Amino acid sequence: MKQGNHFDVAIIGSGIAGSSLAAILAEHGQQVLMLEAKSHPKFSIGESMILETSEVMRSLATLYGVPELACFSSENYLPLIGTSHGVKRHFSYLHHTAGAPYDPQNALQAVIPKAPHGHELHLYRQDVDAFLTTAAVRYGATVLQNTPVEAVSVGEAGVTLETHAETYTADYVVDAGGFKSLLAEQFGLRDFGLQAHSRALFTHMVDVPEYPHKGEMPFAMSEGTLHHVFEGGWLWVIPFNNHVKATNPLCSVGLMLDPRVHPATELSPEDEFRDFIARFPSVYKQFEGAKAVRPWTRTGRLQYSSKRVVGDRFALLGHAAGFIDPLYSKGLYTTLMSVSVLADLLLDAHKDGDYSEARFSPLEVTTQAFIRANDRLVANSYKSFANPKLWSVYRVLWLLGAYTEFVKLSSVRALAGDRRRYYEGVRELRLVGGGFADFRVLADEIDGWLEGVDPKDDAAVSAVVADVRARLLATEWLPQAFAEVLRGKTYLPKRKLRPGLLSRDGGFLGRGDYREHFFAGVTPGALIKTFVQERLTYSVPAVRSRGLNRGR
Ligand SMILES: Cc1cc2nc3c(=O)[nH]c(=O)nc-3n(C[C@H](O)[C@H](O)[C@H](O)COP(=O)(O)OP(=O)(O)OC[C@H]3O[C@@H](n4cnc5c(N)ncnc54)[C@H](O)[C@@H]3O)c2cc1C
Repeated sequence: MKQGNHFDVAIIGSGIAGSSLAAILAEHGQQVLMLEAKSHPKFSIGESMILETSEVMRSLATLYGVPELACFSSENYLPLIGTSHGVKRHFSYLHHTAGAPYDPQNALQAVIPKAPHGHELHLYRQDVDAFLTTAAVRYGATVLQNTPVEAVSVGEAGVTLETHAETYTADYVVDAGGFKSLLAEQFGLRDFGLQAHSRALFTHMVDVPEYPHKGEMPFAMSEGTLHHVFEGGWLWVIPFNNHVKATNPLCSVGLMLDPRVHPATELSPEDEFRDFIARFPSVYKQFEGAKAVRPWTRTGRLQYSSKRVVGDRFALLGHAAGFIDPLYSKGLYTTLMSVSVLADLLLDAHKDGDYSEARFSPLEVTTQAFIRANDRLVANSYKSFANPKLWSVYRVLWLLGAYTEFVKLSSVRALAGDRRRYYEGVRELRLVGGGFADFRVLADEIDGWLEGVDPKDDAAVSAVVADVRARLLATEWLPQAFAEVLRGKTYLPKRKLRPGLLSRDGGFLGRGDYREHFFAGVTPGALIKTFVQERLTYSVPAVRSRGLNRGR
């Protein structure tokens, strides 16, 4: 209930986390105040989508009746969101060795399925964040831009927020203010004890040409997110101008380096970027004629988390809670899954006015588990970059973890029916593996082997590679396409649908514990029906005709 300057929930920051949460809560009758230090449109990072992020967007839109939240979940929404975003038809990782010519055999193109939802997007974030902030206003949130929160106090009866001109009170405060979170600072919550270790240099460029990959691949490199990986780091190339309807000439470019391997230099960021990539001639050539259109951002170490993310009457959300590394684009998935969990908890808490820390423990568990899982995955990936043989097998663990997580998210949305059952279904998720106990055992074993090997000891690496390959190939729920990658194939198939997928025993539904965990009670017929329904619901004509809350 809003009285004067009192709100049910106050949100600090209108990035993707704050604005998504504000829209949901406002639609559900909460009096929401969202305070933003800057004003939209403003530069923001976090541009490459993954299947899991898109799936959470669809679930948020459906569970909470906020269709805008699904608008960035596939290329099929371009008619509603404009043409400043790029498309993402694949994830490609090309491994390079300094001083050596690029070997196309060290490539992996993970093709994103087009059906049933359409390909993923490269998000031009300034437009995304402005769009979602506008949606929050339309749903009834009070949004004040150019209004930094200067101080917050959290008391037993409520919270107080101070800006330069006003004092506001609320029952609950969500700090979605990013790394510089006021509450993290005030309560001394920052934790830097993470395994991954990297810093970033990034900008938007024009005139970044196609990378001329030689060798068979389903898609050109420019049709998806390109990652050049090498010892101690990697480089992203995320074009927004990669489809026929594109109107945005920009391409996001970023270099991630482990400072323990590649210490910071005295050079300007642009000179450091060019000086660094000169050791990989084919990469250097890709950027020879490219020009930055905004100042480079150069960061210190990026990794941080929080000792806790909830307390009585407050929560840290999204980037305020923690961040690891954009290597697998898991940041937005972590952020939006946290938004989802918190929205449900806040709507529940509002019913009886109990905003105690204990009530919000599911957010604590999910956020911390996601950050820790990403940390281990990223740290071991960087380690494996030092030896292409190691990377050639470790990347299959990444693929398997992402695939199973997406399958679980999708099946929970399809089977849940209501919000309660949805949250019961996603409670066990840990970023990768879909909450499947056998995946956790497998990942633990492989991660342990990675952590125990010296990537420069070629004999030891060969032994670990053989063990990882054998362990994965012996896993009966390993998709056939991933087994082919382990046998040397450099891409996943463009066409994912094949007759064997519906075989009663061992097709897409799998068998045994796997089937029970991911598809309990689902028949091949029901699977086809869901697939067709999804395809119809998210087709371009359906998206166009539904529009966005017409008549509101
Ligand atoms: C280099 C890099 C690359 C990334 N790439 C990817 C990627 O490809 N894919 C992916 O999924 N994720 C990626 N991420 C992660 C992604 O950026 C985050 O998950 C996401 O942007 C977090 O959104 P947020 O709303 O929590 O924070 P932010 O977008 O940081 O928003 C915080 C907002 O709070 C405001 N604010 C701060 N302090 C105050 C205050 N005191 N008062 C009022 N307002 C305040 C800020 O102005 C800002 O608008 C990347 C992250 C980094 C660092």
